[in-house]
This record gives sequence, structure tokens and C-alpha cells, in this order.
Amino acid sequence: MIRFNFPCLAGSELEYLQDVLERGRLAGDGEYTKRCSEFLVNYLGGPAGVLLTHSCTAALEMAALLADIQPGDEVIMPSYTFVSTANAFVLRGGIPVFVDIRKDTLNIDENLIESAITPRTKAIVPVHYAGVACEMDVIMDIAKRHGLMVIEDAAQALGSDYRGRKLGTIGDLAAFSFHETKNIVSGEGGALVINNPRFMERAEIIREKGTNRSRFFRGEVDKYTWVDVGSSYLPSELVAAFLYAQLRSVDEINSRRLAIWNRYHKMFRESLGHDESIGLPFVAEGITHNAHLFHVITRDPEEQERVLAGLKASGISAVFHYVPLHSSDAGRRFGRVASGMQVTESMSARLVRLPLYPDLRESEVVEIAEKTLALLTTSNSRGDFPVSGARQ
Ligand SMILES: *Cc1c(COP(=O)(O)O)cnc(C)c1O
Repeated sequence: MIRFNFPCLAGSELEYLQDVLERGRLAGDGEYTKRCSEFLVNYLGGPAGVLLTHSCTAALEMAALLADIQPGDEVIMPSYTFVSTANAFVLRGGIPVFVDIRKDTLNIDENLIESAITPRTKAIVPVHYAGVACEMDVIMDIAKRHGLMVIEDAAQALGSDYRGRKLGTIGDLAAFSFHETKNIVSGEGGALVINNPRFMERAEIIREKGTNRSRFFRGEVDKYTWVDVGSSYLPSELVAAFLYAQLRSVDEINSRRLAIWNRYHKMFRESLGHDESIGLPFVAEGITHNAHLFHVITRDPEEQERVLAGLKASGISAVFHYVPLHSSDAGRRFGRVASGMQVTESMSARLVRLPLYPDLRESEVVEIAEKTLALLTTSNSRGDFPVSGARQ
């Protein structure tokens, strides 16, 4: 069986974990948490701060608190995303306002954002799907003209950039994930990036259960106390030690993924030739990506099902992706739709993700691509189903 995902080890994880055990400090905000934050600040090119969290979900919840989301406030986001993008704001009484995605990148369609803005809109949350950048210049310009915050859901995007700037450093705030399915992992884990320095002090308080404990540790106050709302959002030192080993290998891990991504892309492009009825990932000029995932867009939902089943029968575990949030039970209850959802619904019903991780062997990559292409080509040559017609 070829697994869909397999976390890549950097090599020094156990050594750093051992070091934490010997230091005898297991709670959060110790030596390794500090090393991870400093590493990320340097790697990202100097945001105001990076705070480690126990998940990207936690970082998004912190962002919603920092954005001061009140009941009824609206937050514009794609529907084609993970539940946490929306839930973080719903927990504060906010309303996710869903707009459609672009056909090429599957990122939020920046041209639909402006007409979704109302007097209750507080923030825009672009999600960099597959680690490929949203059109951030356009999004930042809209936010600026309307006085809105931008919170990047950069869960999948560590190491990617947009016109020379690292993703996660463009919005006011950004959230990364180190969940085991992402490029850099610590089992569960995340980080909040603070680009707008006015959020720095309150972010530290919210993360430390609403206390000014961080200032106390720096010797800035002589006792710490309850000063604001907050929760426990920090990871333990064990998680931070594991993460530090991974972070030090971020460029190597990403480039091994990229080699596989490029191999897939070349095989599909060459084999499909000018056949545009099958969609492949699109990366615009001027941006680089971290090869978080490789997908193929089949011609219709039946083909998606058949390719997934055919790969499974060959011992290859490929998977679909998000059920659009606007069509989910909770999404209908808590959210609102502000545009047509044709692209979201069509892509969701046609997309197939292929296995991609650094330890995937080249022979396996070739086998996966060949089997997928054969399943696609068979259906094409049979011609017994309509070539368009996504589920609407
Ligand atoms: C993985 C992911 C999350 C959640 O990350 P956790 O670290 O598991 O909380 C949020 N948003 C997107 C787009 C993701 O891919």
C-alpha cells in the first residue's frame, strides 16, 4: 500500500527531545519554544513576532480574538477550506461570509471580495491552498480601502512566497500549521505570525490565559495577574523541541517535496498534451511554492470516484479534499454565501490529491502517475459520459 502521507523526520528530533528531558522543563515557553520563534522570525524575514501555538486552529482563534470579532461581525473567506478557518470566528459570534474560488489556483476569487463587503465586515481571510499564494496585492488593496483586517490562513504555506515576500508576512496576522499532514510537523502544532506590531502585546496575553505572564518572565512587571480574556494556546517544550528539529530542515524538506511535485507535473503535462479537460495545479509567474500538495482535476464527479477507486484497488491511497463549508450543516447554520459557488462545488466534486512526501520513492511516483493517467485515459477513450458537467 502506498500511503497518502508519511511525516518526514529531519534526524535530530530525538536528540532535542532528550535535551528537554534532561533540562527538566516540559511546560511551554522554554528554550525550544524560544528557538522556534526566533527561527521563524528570521526565516520569514522579520515580522513583529511569531508565537508558537498548539495548532493552527489555536492561532486562528487567537487571531479572531485580536480582531475583536463581536457577534454579527462578518469575515470574508473561501468556502473551499478547512473548518477551522470558519470556526475560529464563529466561536466569537462572527459570521463567515463565503465567496467562490478561482478555477486555476482554487484560492479565493479576489474579484468577488469587494461585492461581499457590508458595514459589518471586519476581516478578509485568504487561504493559500496547496501552499500557492492568493492574489495578495489585490486583497491588501481592498482591505486598505475598506479598513479591514487581513488574516492569512497560511496553514499549508510555510516556505512559499508571493512576489519575493514569504506567505504569512503580508496580512496583519497569519496562522501556520505543523499538523502531521503538513510539510513541517510536530504531530499537532502551529504558530501565529504578528505582522502588525500593534497586536503584539495583547497576543502574548491572550496566549497566556489572559495574564501578563510573558512580561513577568522578561522582568517588565514584578508580579503577573489576570488582565484580559485568554486561553492556553502554547505548546509544551516537547512539541517545540521536535518542531525545532523540523524547522532547521525546512528548506531541504520543501525541496525534496518540490522534486516530486515537478516529476508529477512533467509526467501529467507531457502525457495530457493539449488536453485541457483535466486540470493540473497552476502556479503564476513571480511566485514560488512549497509543494504542499499535488492534485488532478478530473472531468466530472464520476471520473473522480472512478480514479479514487481505481487507485485504491492498485494499493495507492489518493484522496479528495474539502466538502465546501457553505454546503455543510454547520456552514449553513453559521455562515452566509455572498456569491455563486459553481467553481467551489465543481472543483470539490472533481479533485483528486495524490500521495506526496519526501520519502516517496521515485519508482512509486512514476507508478502513481502512470496508474492515474491510465484511469483518466481509459475514461476518455470510452467517451461514455459528458466531458463537462460538474455537479452544481
Ligand atoms: C491544516 C489546516 C488548518 C488546521 O491546522 P491545525 O494545525 O490542524 O489546527 C487550518 N486551515 C487550513 C487551510 C489547513 O490546511
